[in-house]
Amino acid sequence: METGLEGIRVAVLGGDERELVLIPALARAGAEVVVTGYPPRPELAGIKLVDTVAGAVEGAQVVILPMPGTDDQGVVRAVFASEKVQITWEVFSRLAPGTLVIIGTAKPFLRQWAGKFGFRLVEIAEEDEVAVLNAVPTAEGALEMAMHMLPITIHGCEAFVLGFGRVGQVLAERLAGLHARTTVVARSRAALAKAWAAGYSTCAFGSLPAEIGRAQIVFNTVPAPVLTEMVLAATLPEVLIIDLASAPGGTDFQAAQKLERKAVLAPGLPGKVAPLTAGKVLAAVIPRIIRQNSG
Ligand code: NAP
Repeated sequence: METGLEGIRVAVLGGDERELVLIPALARAGAEVVVTGYPPRPELAGIKLVDTVAGAVEGAQVVILPMPGTDDQGVVRAVFASEKVQITWEVFSRLAPGTLVIIGTAKPFLRQWAGKFGFRLVEIAEEDEVAVLNAVPTAEGALEMAMHMLPITIHGCEAFVLGFGRVGQVLAERLAGLHARTTVVARSRAALAKAWAAGYSTCAFGSLPAEIGRAQIVFNTVPAPVLTEMVLAATLPEVLIIDLASAPGGTDFQAAQKLERKAVLAPGLPGKVAPLTAGKVLAAVIPRIIRQNSG
C-alpha cells in the first residue's frame, strides 16, 4: 500500500466517479481528506464530508479540483452534489501561500489567482503520464462512438486520424488492429515518418483536401482549425467526423452543418466511458505529485 501523505490535509472539491477512486486512495496513503460536493456514500466511509468549499479548504495544504475543472464563473463539476460547488476569490485568497492546487485544466482566472494569492497551481491534464494513460480510454471511447454512429464496420473502412500525438497514436494503432484502412495526417515530417513506419498511410495537411474524399470516418485530435470549410467540402456526404480535440475542437461545425456533414465534438471521454480506469490514473498520479511538492 502506498503511504507518504501522513499529516497532509487534502481538500477535494466536487468531481465525479473518478474521485470516488481517488479519495479513498488518498486516505489509504495517509492523508487527512475533507471533501465537499458528496452525499454520504459507501466509497467515502470514514472520509470527512462538509457542505461548503470554505469548510473543505480550511487548513488544507492541498486542494484538488476535478479534471474538467471549473467554468468561467468558478462552478466546479460535481455530479453527486445537490447544490452548486463554486470556488470564489474570497475563499481562495485565504489559502495559505504555497498551498498546492491540483486541477486537470485551469481557466485563465484561476491562473491569475495563483499569481495573485500565491498558491501553487498544477495542471495535470497535459502532463505526459496522465495524457498517455488517458489516451487509452479516449481512443476506446472514440471507437465506441464510431461503432454506434456508423452504419458500417470499422473493419475495412477508410479511417483518417488527424494529429499523431498521444491520442492519435493510440487511436491509429487500435483502428489498424480492427483492420480499418488507416491514414494518419500530421504536420511534422518526423510524425509522418513514424506513422509510415508503423504501417499507416500518411498525408500532410496540405494534401488533405485532395485525400480526404475517401474517408468514411475522421477522428480529429488537433486543437486547431484543421477541418475547415474547404476541407469539409471535399469529404463524402456520408462521412462521420468525431472531434476529440479540446473545445472548441478543430472542426468548423457551422460549415459542417451547412454542408450537411455529421460532425460531433466528443469531450471528456475517459471520465464518461471508463471512469474507474480514469480514476485509477488519478489515484496513481496525484499522490505522487503531492509527495513531490510537499516538505
Ligand atoms: P498531443 O500529444 O499534444 O497531440 C496533438 C497533435 O496535434 C500533435 O500531433 C500535434 O502536432 C498536432 N497539432 C497541434 N497543433 C497543430 C496545428 N496547428 N496544426 C497541425 N497539427 C497540430 O495531444 P493529445 O494528448 O494527443 O490530445 C489531443 C487533443 O485531445 C488535445 O486537445 C486534448 O486536450 C484532447 N483530449 C481529449 C480527450 C477527449 O476525451 N475528447 C481526451 C484526452 C485529450 P505536433 O506534434 O507537430 O505539435
